Amino acid sequence: MNIKIEKIPENELKPLYQDPAQLGFGKVFTDYMFTMRYVKGKGWIEPKIGKYTSIPMGPAAVVLHYAQEIFEGLKAYAAEDGRILLFRPEENAKRMYDSAEKICMPPFPVEYFVEAVTALVNLEKRWIPKAPGTSLYVRPTLIGIGDALGVHPADEYLFFIILTPVSAYFKEGFKPVSLYVEDFHVRAAVGGVGNAKTGANYAASLLAGAKAEQKGFSQVLWLDARERKYVEEVGAMNIFFVFGKKVVTPNLSGSILPGITRKSVLELAKSLGYEVEERPISIDEVIAGIKDGTLTESFGSGTAAVISPVGSLNFEGDNYLVSNNQVGKVTEELYIKLLDLQYGRARDPFGWVKEIGRF
Ligand SMILES: *Cc1c(COP(=O)(O)O)cnc(C)c1O
Repeated sequence: MNIKIEKIPENELKPLYQDPAQLGFGKVFTDYMFTMRYVKGKGWIEPKIGKYTSIPMGPAAVVLHYAQEIFEGLKAYAAEDGRILLFRPEENAKRMYDSAEKICMPPFPVEYFVEAVTALVNLEKRWIPKAPGTSLYVRPTLIGIGDALGVHPADEYLFFIILTPVSAYFKEGFKPVSLYVEDFHVRAAVGGVGNAKTGANYAASLLAGAKAEQKGFSQVLWLDARERKYVEEVGAMNIFFVFGKKVVTPNLSGSILPGITRKSVLELAKSLGYEVEERPISIDEVIAGIKDGTLTESFGSGTAAVISPVGSLNFEGDNYLVSNNQVGKVTEELYIKLLDLQYGRARDPFGWVKEIGRF
């Protein structure tokens, strides 16, 4: 790939944020973005890094009407020794490739993905925050932009990457979240696109999310679409349950997003001597486990929070505390070990951490 770089004059660059604790998530964007177009008959053309700016497209662009969109999320970390690190970027590239096929889009080549992220993050390295727990969030996105109102895949696409420096996810320390078990609305059904990282799944989840928030819960825990019986995921996180020394997560049924943090937690937990299981887990089993004390902890996994302890579940009007609304030992151990790997503080026997540059 021969990336054309359109430099922004030094005096036109944005001022850097002052306090990384005030960044929040996805509110501040860096100076540059990566773009590459796909045109039917020509393939992927014009790789470019230029100014972060709005995207020109017609009002009949396919993405605006039929949601032909997929995205990814990963982070660039500043290691204390000056290395710039990514965590398993090839996994994001491969998942985006798979998502594209499910939404009838031309897949973006895996090597291009890693090359583009590497080039953009290196150019923008001044934006990678260094305070503990902070990182530069990377958002690759692919949209259908051809102007055509007929219901068909677009014949023109735009792949782009934007960057946003983000605060530590848990500002007041590692805090348990409350989940509302949704037994009416569903996020995705088997046979649908629940296992693709597409905006359409998020559109489908907004109403239930807003209702849960109104009732005072942090997030929705989704059940399967067919029976409203089996636990699926949290919507931007996969879900785990700990039964003593056993770490259990729902198997990838087809409607669950295959999280890279999920996959990493499974491999890490196994290496730490836990028994790991991927299998269907019913909400009744979860509630029974909480009641009889065999279910000792629960947590969500995803790139944004890495590990998010679950403090309570609300199901059919009853509230159930998980590990007494405290952070469990297994949850904390996995969280610390994963973060130590991602920030380059721990030896990486898995080969997950990729150095892409230096400060
Ligand atoms: C991105 C995402 C996750 C978490 O995946 P990671 O690769 O661990 O960040 C979980 N569920 C949904 C619906 C997602 O979009």
